Amino acid sequence: MERIRLGNTVFEGLNNAYLLPGDRPTLVDAGVATDSVRRDLREGLDAAGYGVADLEAIVLTHWHADHAGLAGELQTESGAPVYVHADDAGIVAGDPDAIAAEREIRERRFGEWRIPEEPLAEVTAFLDGHDDLRGDRVDVTPVEDGDRIAAGDGDLEVVHLPGHAAGLSAFAFDGERGREAFVGDAILPKYTPNVGGADLRVDRPLETYLDSLARLVDLDFAQAWPGHRDPIDDPAGRARVIAEHHRERTERVVSVLDEHGPADAWTVSARLFGDLSAIHILHGPGEAFAHLDHLVAEGVVAAPDGDGRYELLDADPDFDELVAVPETKR
Ligand SMILES: [Zn+2]
Ligand SMILES: [Zn+2]
Repeated sequence: MERIRLGNTVFEGLNNAYLLPGDRPTLVDAGVATDSVRRDLREGLDAAGYGVADLEAIVLTHWHADHAGLAGELQTESGAPVYVHADDAGIVAGDPDAIAAEREIRERRFGEWRIPEEPLAEVTAFLDGHDDLRGDRVDVTPVEDGDRIAAGDGDLEVVHLPGHAAGLSAFAFDGERGREAFVGDAILPKYTPNVGGADLRVDRPLETYLDSLARLVDLDFAQAWPGHRDPIDDPAGRARVIAEHHRERTERVVSVLDEHGPADAWTVSARLFGDLSAIHILHGPGEAFAHLDHLVAEGVVAAPDGDGRYELLDADPDFDELVAVPETKR
């Protein structure tokens, strides 16, 4: 298996694509549709002795442009099927209904979070300005949890891990160390993947994501190959650290409401993260919303009032219970 490093700075930056050589040469994730990433990808394939036309399958971990952007043109050149989870298939395919539905939820949430006019204009311009990075339309083959896709000299098993994106899926395979997986942005080595802002279609985003982290702990992969930056040697341990991080953040959200009184998602975000620009205007309040939404569901915070403000009902909840950190088997 070959890791192909993509030197992009847009979005989270430093994406990876992976090549499984062998009987059925397969590419995992495709990178963002920019000239430099196009070049990085071709050079990476070339170094492994492959060309785009040799690809017989392309699998995508999720719909985000920095993972799916080049899939359409790679498919045109190779004729390879493109596999992605059914929940993300519509957006990757460029289906106007799926794209309009995502945009509609986004606009509704921006209102609910009370993002002020100026940052709202900034983030909207940012998102619209990056539309072309999504690349060409893709003829998608949707997959579901448990499906197996022939790839390289073996197969990839689809492991649906929603949270960061609705259709986010890892692909498990027998690697050098044992059972390994391409995990996309389900877990990342350095920072916590955004939840709540990265895919507004996800219902109960924090709870959904915590379930996926618990599943990763349970699966206990020998190695994870993430969508950004370096491989993760202890994926279960990393999933636990990220769950702990969310528990701390939940505590901070409760203390913000305790100290400052009822507040909307934008205000909570500002207390947590300070001033935000570009994509973070989406990710900051999205993250705050994910936590507030979880606290509402657990009865710690009241549902937002007519001004989008959340009021604290219980200043001393059991955080261990609210955000359970899954136990390891080892
Ligand atoms: Zn992503
Ligand atoms: Zn990513």
